Amino acid sequence: MASVTYDKASRLFPKADRPAVDSLDLHVDDGEFLVLVGPSGCGKSTSLRMLAGLEEVTSGSIHIGGEDVTGIQARDRDVAMVFQSYALYPTMTVEENMGFALRNMGTSKKDTKSLVLEAARILQLEEYLGRKPGQLSGGQRQRVAMGRAIVRRPQVFCMDEPLSNLDAKLRVSTRSEIAGLQRRLGITTVYVTHDQTEAMTMGHRVAVLKDGLLQQVATPREMYDAPVNTFVAGFIGTPGMNLITVPVDSAGDPTFGGEPVRPSFNVGARKEVVLGVRPESLQIVGRDAPGLDIKVTLVEELGLEVFVHGQATDGTATLEGKDLVVRTVRSKAPSLDDVVRIAPLEEHGSRLFF
Ligand code: ATP
Repeated sequence: MASVTYDKASRLFPKADRPAVDSLDLHVDDGEFLVLVGPSGCGKSTSLRMLAGLEEVTSGSIHIGGEDVTGIQARDRDVAMVFQSYALYPTMTVEENMGFALRNMGTSKKDTKSLVLEAARILQLEEYLGRKPGQLSGGQRQRVAMGRAIVRRPQVFCMDEPLSNLDAKLRVSTRSEIAGLQRRLGITTVYVTHDQTEAMTMGHRVAVLKDGLLQQVATPREMYDAPVNTFVAGFIGTPGMNLITVPVDSAGDPTFGGEPVRPSFNVGARKEVVLGVRPESLQIVGRDAPGLDIKVTLVEELGLEVFVHGQATDGTATLEGKDLVVRTVRSKAPSLDDVVRIAPLEEHGSRLFF
């Protein structure tokens, strides 16, 4: 087991006008599960591949267990990679697939067998050891790919979207299996996904990347409660935070629907600020209460919970013109094209962005 440190690590691809990963500073504790998340092309796979030794580090360095591994070959790094494609050998059985890397490393037949059996037990694959990958379901193949990594007892696991080939239901169960397994084995893990729900449910901490730049590293709860910028605020959460440009009154308080937002934030002499409010921190209020009127553009029913989307009728703008989203319950859900008044809950955790 070992910690991982990226020290101003960059990757500039030939002919690219900016680095795919730009001066990444990131420390992963020994035994920690860290998730790298961000939209397509933000540099998360490249960051992971740099750690695994599959991608050159153009400047800066990477350390595993305090040792500088920047110039060290992938096979000498004691890192096991689990890919999205699983990359299983189709003609080998599950047992042979799982033991292949060990045999290549010179592990005896007997030791290989016992390590494979142990991993198969942990992953509940014992009854499939004699099967070929083509005779397994997607979830079982995914477990074999994990098994191949586990048998090596590496210092670090690198996982690149290992769940993306699974259907929605299996993704949910497998994500808790992987997180549980990582907690039991205690092997330092860096996990890449573009899915913020996966990131928030699996990681001890989450690192958000955008355009090759690290935006924030925090526990899922901190990330949700205190995003550092509008990008993280909009990216984390389903749906993301509402980001509303609101006027500031003469006392220096941002207002929402004409009323100062409470608790009071004094923002001084600014004319307007961006207020970030989670959909669950807004409510639909009566027409005689203070608030902002929105015209409903979409009503999303998810069982008891309902997300009401709409646009402000007085021209109050949201960042990128997005709909405002309010979480409510079925009994309070309006209909399409209704005009409803919304206001922040008293105990709301809104954020201000400048
Ligand atoms: P995705 O979720 O789509 O896999 P990502 O966040 O993992 O995206 P990367 O694959 O790390 O993103 O790519 C980051 C940037 O580097 C992208 O702009 C991509 O086009 C570029 N890139 C990746 N690999 C290469 C390469 N071999 N040569 C040139 N540019 C590359």
